[in-house]
Amino acid sequence: RVYTPAVVAIALLTAIIPSLVTGEWHKWVYTAMTFLVISCPCALVISVPLSFFGGIGCASKQGVLVKGSNYLEALSHAEIVVMDKTGTLTEGKFHVTQQNAVGISEAEQLELAALAESASNHPIGQSLREAYGKELDTSRVQDIQESAGHGVSALVDGKKVLAGNAAYLQEAGLEPLVPRQTGTAVHVAVDGVYAGYLLIADVVKPHSAAAIKGLKQAGVRKTVMLTGDAEPVAKAVSAELGLDEYHAGLLPGDKVDQIETLLAAKQPKENLAFVGDGINDAPVLSRADVGIAMGALGSDAAIEAADVVLMDDDPAKIALAMRIARRTLRIVYQNIVFALAIKFACLVLGALGLASMWTAIFADVGVMVLAVLNATRALYTKDLAKKNVQ
Ligand code: ADP
Ligand code: MG
Repeated sequence: RVYTPAVVAIALLTAIIPSLVTGEWHKWVYTAMTFLVISCPCALVISVPLSFFGGIGCASKQGVLVKGSNYLEALSHAEIVVMDKTGTLTEGKFHVTQQNAVGISEAEQLELAALAESASNHPIGQSLREAYGKELDTSRVQDIQESAGHGVSALVDGKKVLAGNAAYLQEAGLEPLVPRQTGTAVHVAVDGVYAGYLLIADVVKPHSAAAIKGLKQAGVRKTVMLTGDAEPVAKAVSAELGLDEYHAGLLPGDKVDQIETLLAAKQPKENLAFVGDGINDAPVLSRADVGIAMGALGSDAAIEAADVVLMDDDPAKIALAMRIARRTLRIVYQNIVFALAIKFACLVLGALGLASMWTAIFADVGVMVLAVLNATRALYTKDLAKKNVQ
């Protein structure tokens, strides 16, 4: 709306005014045409999107799907990275480390918990079903209700079974025991009577510690973990990984509140990235400046809500994606500065009648070819991938 009319107007003036004064129509019309050729913005309009496509292509070769160039740009300014614990920093594959059954046998406790969890897609539910190991007769289970960040309740053989964290059982008026070992406790109650707990443990993903270090190296100012799990577990994981900050015992709504607080406290130019598996954290994924989801373990809602998807659930890919984003932006700026500087110099020469048509063609096609060649660098990952091997 501005550039084209302005350039055409200048060309017209260049063709007409000096010609009227000097009478040299041929010379000044030719100068005006040279000016028009120079002013064609090919280099800019082709190389900038091309650099972004290169960056997106490079990221996808590494198993990182970026849903648009704007997210690549947002990712390059991510200064605060907030992560979910279960399924993001940890495997989300729990195994039972200790069982404390009260009033029922351990086998019965595990069976009731597994049946109550028969429809849950939470990593805890899946792990309890695996720990049970046998085929589940789902006809014995009715009326399943899952309370996000809390647990499940269901009618098993006509008995009301609750399986969830301490807060969930306290809400039902029960007094769960406090396990001495660290681990995530799944407390069980049958028909309003407390039936003990199963202590389950998750392992930190092999790359998580390196991922946090990689983020720091990539210039991330603050790493935060938000989890619905209990304080001792959160503290242990946070210390093991060297996170700056953690908040435990959060319900999905509390996670949104925490994100709001962090968003309000950040500098205007900084971006906040949230990384999660979408189980109980899809709302935060969409609220963050950049939402990053685990593609393999994550829920469909997470993949839908996220801007960036890590196909192999490897948290180390976050820092890699940030490096790709930064390099892409660097290439984009190089192209903008290079193309504009040459264009501007040639435009001035052209308007003064000092540039030949050959200069004009270099300023147009030549600069475009150079900028496109520079843009293709965004595709290559060799040096970046090497740095990522830990
Ligand atoms: P995180 O934020 O670490 O991913 P969630 O918000 O998914 O954790 O879950 C928080 C807590 O809620 C879990 O640690 C667990 O105690 C409890 N919980 C959630 N869903 C279930 C379930 N299906 N069965 C048992 N406990 C559950
Ligand atoms: Mg989770």
